[in-house]
Amino acid sequence: MKTTQDFDRISIGVFPTPVQKLESISRLLGTQVYVKRDDLTGLGLGGNKVRKLEYLLADAKAQGAEVVFTTGGAQSNHAMLTAAAARKLGMTPILILKKRGVTARQGNQLLEHLMGVDVRFMDTDDYADIYAEMDRVGKALGRPYYKIPCGGSNALGTLGYVDCAREIRDQGLHFDHLICAEGSGGTMAGLALGAKLYLPGTRVTGMMVDSDPFEEITVRLMREAAALLDADVQVSAEDFDLRDLCGPGYAIPSQEGNAAVAMMAENEGLFLDPVYTGKAFAGLIAMAREGAFKPTDRVLFLHSGGAGGLFAVGV
Ligand SMILES: *Cc1c(COP(=O)(O)O)cnc(C)c1O
Repeated sequence: MKTTQDFDRISIGVFPTPVQKLESISRLLGTQVYVKRDDLTGLGLGGNKVRKLEYLLADAKAQGAEVVFTTGGAQSNHAMLTAAAARKLGMTPILILKKRGVTARQGNQLLEHLMGVDVRFMDTDDYADIYAEMDRVGKALGRPYYKIPCGGSNALGTLGYVDCAREIRDQGLHFDHLICAEGSGGTMAGLALGAKLYLPGTRVTGMMVDSDPFEEITVRLMREAAALLDADVQVSAEDFDLRDLCGPGYAIPSQEGNAAVAMMAENEGLFLDPVYTGKAFAGLIAMAREGAFKPTDRVLFLHSGGAGGLFAVGV
């Protein structure tokens, strides 16, 4: 088997990210709650996409790409961080975004404006149209280009979160539960595979914030990442739990999500976002209230970032 360290990786972020105990929240929820601060990954406003981009952009560079395309919704944190990373590495970012969400110059749109990024909107619900448009634009430019899928969620991007599980193990900490938001799947798949490899006894739960077939997506990404690593593991949907926190829809705030954002801000001075981490933390609160955790259980919540979305979408 290979390890994540056998793959090319460009240093864009600051790792390892800290793990902190949330004392007040632990008292309120009756279990031991910790947070993995991937909102502090050190590029832009931080967030989970930086781990994936360290692998994806290393691959782009190795292939000689000068232009980097990616996609997502109008307030995609992933698109903003891809643009920031591309700028830092001297590559040209082009974002072809779905015309979905807040397109005004707020939140991530404001940051993309500040970086002078070429942002285009496409009125489609099908990413296949967008990937075809990337090829059309890329060929017309006549410069070598690299396409990063929505959320950076392919096998190579998923390695970023396999490596995060390795990082948690190397921080010398054991957790009974590891909880994250699931939007395009790479983060959850990486953590679930990484837990299988490096964190025995840790159960991973993904809080779904969109309405895609996540069980299938997660298993597929876990298998593809395991194949990249030549890992001798049997992957199945038994390896993880999922919970639906989408509420009124992707990128539309939910009542429980907003309550979770408020609870974290009021008790810990820590800011979640309405699209991903607020909904995910609402799932953790619901599990605690249902008695899913013992008082002595150690529960690690992945703070995957999302500040840009908070300022655009609000609560
Ligand atoms: C993209 C994103 C997620 C979800 O990660 P996926 O790998 O796309 O499932 C969670 N939180 C934030 C803040 C994100 O931007």
